[in-house]
Amino acid sequence: MVTGGAGFIGSAVCRRSVEAGWHVLNVDKLTYAANLSSLASVARHERYALVEGDVGDRALMDKVFAEFQPDAILHLAAESHVDRSIDGAAEFVRTNVVGSYVLLEAALAYWSGLEPGRREAFRFLHVSTDEVYGALGDTGLFTEATPYDPRSPYAATKAASDHLASAWFHTYGLPVIISNSSNNYGSYQFPEKLIPLAILNALKGKPVPVYGDGSHVRDWLYVDDHVSALFSILAQGRVGETYNVGGASERRNIEVVGAICDLLDELSPSVPIGARSKLIQFVTDRPGHDRRYAVDSTKLTQVLGWRAQENFESGLRKTVQWYLANEAWWAPIRQGTTDQRLGLRGSQS
Ligand code: NAD
Repeated sequence: MVTGGAGFIGSAVCRRSVEAGWHVLNVDKLTYAANLSSLASVARHERYALVEGDVGDRALMDKVFAEFQPDAILHLAAESHVDRSIDGAAEFVRTNVVGSYVLLEAALAYWSGLEPGRREAFRFLHVSTDEVYGALGDTGLFTEATPYDPRSPYAATKAASDHLASAWFHTYGLPVIISNSSNNYGSYQFPEKLIPLAILNALKGKPVPVYGDGSHVRDWLYVDDHVSALFSILAQGRVGETYNVGGASERRNIEVVGAICDLLDELSPSVPIGARSKLIQFVTDRPGHDRRYAVDSTKLTQVLGWRAQENFESGLRKTVQWYLANEAWWAPIRQGTTDQRLGLRGSQS
């Protein structure tokens, strides 16, 4: 069972799970961030089904558990965009905190009633973010032992849900595992996030906004590598433990958008626009913008043997190529969105 399976990472989990031969039930509320066309390749597959609903709906969750009888849950449903959480945190609290609580309770009730073999094998994989750890200085990495220090409303709600998931393991024995991953990028990502936004703006000759002075550092993880990590954690991870997932690809935001402009100049040259790096514009920084995130994935690589298959250059090239080849996927979303800047509430300027 996958929650949030119509979103960016969840849809990749659903596609790969069906490919792997599993039966998949996708439970998704179909918010603005969902896109059923990301699931077109599995939508009619006999091993895939969708239930449209809210993870915070206890009656529905009980019904779903009783009917589908999952062996594992990958819980990805969330409000995920930091800028939106700055403008209005209520939905983030409702879904990320209360929704996760309701799902944990429903999972516990279901798991408690399983026969011993299935109880033993059951897993609740709570998918979270490295943003719960706060910000780093110029050096150092987040490890699984880094104290939580969330800064944005989004990160605070994810941190709260991590604590709830951990408590349901320690208090009730629910076989929970938590993963904290760095920034994902890749195909099917909603074009409000930095990489797809920069690709599509630069492609169309529009300004490419970069927050502040562009020096913020993120550790970029290709989405398919994240899915492989989740599968490794599900299969071999120890219950009650946390696994960090990072791409070992730290880049400053200005480097990221510069690389996108250069790739587009190569893959889709445009005479009227010329060098697309001219489109880069520095805009007012996000309030409370964490300077640097970087993740130590040693536990995942050494204990579970996971390795990222893509480096930033190869993953970014694949991503740009995908957006160039899939206008039918993103054009309807772009038509429905405005260029209005989100997430300036609380800004001093
Ligand atoms: P996304 O915003 O693309 O998708 C979220 C999905 O959850 C959507 O399909 C939405 O409809 C669904 N959803 C929202 N509220 C729901 C509710 N109440 N009930 C059921 N479904 C609901 O998000 P994403 O980028 O794919 O992220 C997935 C998960 O991974 C999130 O938990 C996020 O915190 C975590 N994560 C994301 C990243 C990243 O870089 N994108 C990094 C680390 C962790």
